[in-house]
Amino acid sequence: MTTNSSIHPPQRLLFGPGPTQVAPSVYAAMSQPIVSHMDPYFFQTSEAVQDMLRTVFGTKNPLTFAISGTGSGGMETAISSLVEPGTKVCVFANGFFCDRMTEMAKRNGGNVVRLEKPWGEVFTDAEAAEFIAHEKPQVVMYVQAETSTGAFQQGTGICKAAHDAGALVIADVVTSLGAMPVKVDETGIDIAYSCTQKGLSCVPGLSPITVSPRAAEYIEARKTPNRSWYFDLKLLNDYYKVSHRYHHTASATLFYALREALSLITQEGVENRWERHRRMHHAFVSGIEKLGLKMHVAPEHRIVNLNTPRVPEGVDDAKVRKLLMDEHGIEIMGGFGPLAGKVFRIGIMGPLATPEHVENFLKVFANALERSRTTAAVSN
Ligand SMILES: *Cc1c(COP(=O)(O)O)cnc(C)c1O
Repeated sequence: MTTNSSIHPPQRLLFGPGPTQVAPSVYAAMSQPIVSHMDPYFFQTSEAVQDMLRTVFGTKNPLTFAISGTGSGGMETAISSLVEPGTKVCVFANGFFCDRMTEMAKRNGGNVVRLEKPWGEVFTDAEAAEFIAHEKPQVVMYVQAETSTGAFQQGTGICKAAHDAGALVIADVVTSLGAMPVKVDETGIDIAYSCTQKGLSCVPGLSPITVSPRAAEYIEARKTPNRSWYFDLKLLNDYYKVSHRYHHTASATLFYALREALSLITQEGVENRWERHRRMHHAFVSGIEKLGLKMHVAPEHRIVNLNTPRVPEGVDDAKVRKLLMDEHGIEIMGGFGPLAGKVFRIGIMGPLATPEHVENFLKVFANALERSRTTAAVSN
């Protein structure tokens, strides 16, 4: 079905942290006619999505689905489900998104305590165990792939310490899902949520979420109703999975897109896809180091699909970004908060995680860096 449209967006290469490049077949899926949010075809589509999500999450959790809303909607769902007034919450805080989790937990009435680290570092198992044993929380939260810093924390030690203390764990896997092994069951995560527009290479608009049987029981037994009506997991579960009773008008278009994006992932093989991202990360890092740049995060703690090379001394990072955008339609992002002006945030994901794209990116990036030097000194 081809029709003329008045919309002519510029062609971009999305090398930022997200949204990331979307495959043509995903766009094609979005041009199909919608069905209603109560149509049997909608629920078939949603179920196909659920099955494939279990594979990328690495879980057998029956309560696994995509809900309306972006990654922050998943965050709001997870937190409002487990945090009631007075709930003791421990947050592992090493970046921007942990701060957003903190804010949401507080708004839900949680009694929040934080263990903080500089942006770009992660927590050792011993630090996690000591903090949790000391605070005795009911809920523990961490970000697996901190997109503001480039640091990855699988979270096995955090989950073990939390379970030893009888607490449930919420993990933000917004950037890791689809590009790195999230391993929900093996890691011990109770609720993990994500988005569609980062590691899954889809358009923004849905939030995949998975809930362990233990967390589902806890939610079932909670005494106060969820403060959020829209993000109430009980109501969402009833609509998407149990009775299909109307809750809100979910977008068939977005579910078509996600079904297609997940099909591409399962056709490639989820493990092959992780391996492809890992290889392209190493190719990228070796190219970046040849240019004389240093990576912000220690090698063993890096997110493979989102790189944070440090801005070299004497380089104007805003100028680099502007040259890439103006001359090549390439988007990358800068750092913010404590890392403002200090790092670039460069995503090598999905359709752009290929040797050709990495090589071409490094070439134009090198050229933009050279032309953005504010001083003669060339070093970092
Ligand atoms: C992008 C991101 C979010 C928020 O997702 P939105 O889709 O922008 O709402 C949350 N957590 C992390 C780690 C992210 O990278």
